[in-house]
Amino acid sequence: MLSFDFLQRTRFISGPGVVDQLGALAKELLGNRVLIVSDPGVVAAGLYQKGLDSLQAAGLSCLGFHDLHENPSDQDIDVGVKVAKDFRPDLLVGLGGGSSMDCAKGINFVYSCGGRMQDYWGKGKATSDMLPMIAVPTTAGTGSESQSYALISDSKTHMKMACGDPRAACRIALLDPELTVTQPPRVTALTGVDALTHALETMVTKDRNAISIAYSRAAWQYLSHSFSKVLEDPFDLDARSRMQIGACLAGMAIEASMLGAAHALANPLTANFGIAHGQAVGIMMPAVLRANGRDTAIAELYHSLLVDLGIHVPCDNAGDTLADWFSTHMKIAGLADRISSLDLNGASFSSLKSTLGQEAAAQWTASFNPLTYDAAEMERLYESVS
Ligand SMILES: [Zn+2]
Repeated sequence: MLSFDFLQRTRFISGPGVVDQLGALAKELLGNRVLIVSDPGVVAAGLYQKGLDSLQAAGLSCLGFHDLHENPSDQDIDVGVKVAKDFRPDLLVGLGGGSSMDCAKGINFVYSCGGRMQDYWGKGKATSDMLPMIAVPTTAGTGSESQSYALISDSKTHMKMACGDPRAACRIALLDPELTVTQPPRVTALTGVDALTHALETMVTKDRNAISIAYSRAAWQYLSHSFSKVLEDPFDLDARSRMQIGACLAGMAIEASMLGAAHALANPLTANFGIAHGQAVGIMMPAVLRANGRDTAIAELYHSLLVDLGIHVPCDNAGDTLADWFSTHMKIAGLADRISSLDLNGASFSSLKSTLGQEAAAQWTASFNPLTYDAAEMERLYESVS
């Protein structure tokens, strides 16, 4: 149960202003020509410019790639690879949220190894060494900076393809909390909720082990104590840094033990109706906590997370109590906590639930949930928060 094979491949540098080291660190990795992947929102917020300034001050030749969408697809990757083929970078920087970092990783797979994005769906499919990459997260949520996986949507099937290989792991991740203070409150809410679900899901997966549990619990301690603080005061730099570190630790936990049923239930809501990932996974998390908590071993793990919150209840009630805590924080964050509050493109939930249940049960991430839920049970989980 606790056995593992785990190598952390990324150097992490954390602190206010560390983005200014980007140029010197890129040079350390022998970079001369740097392709910087940042989505348009990151450019508009002036964060891309900060990275660019540091790289140019170090005398490096730089090109920005901004032609990508939220939840990047294989089409975004194809456009990026075309740009890379013309520019011929020797180093990649993913500067932004999960979409920018995952897009940079996706470009790296196809540019370095050839073929198309679908060829790398799964684990360990890279066919050659890849360009060194530096991640500079501007949100505290996805944890992409500490994972060797890129989540890329298939533009035809809308399936989220998790493409991972040890060679895709970032060489360096710069955790600069100053980059996260300017994000809109809704982004703070959505990404923070996502990071919390990463800590909760990784803690109990079938693949959980001594390393993942240590990362999950540390992530939970940072995130659960800081989330309401950053919602209340966006300029609380200490709380911002704790959220960033928590999200990064949760990313390491994902690398070590994967995710579970809340992500399996959330993905169809995002793929079919464009519901933001943090919103979708946040609605489904309490349902999964209650359901998983019926298992004694899982309830004990949930109980340890409640102890971290200073909440003491019998193990039997741990899943429900944790679900209540989570729902309360969805409300504090100003996010919907029922499916009925979502816009499902005009369709009614009751006409969709059977299809959603089947799609959730078919998600790869569902296979890591500690308890196995078939399509009918997934449908019931949707119903319980409808
Ligand atoms: Zn997530």
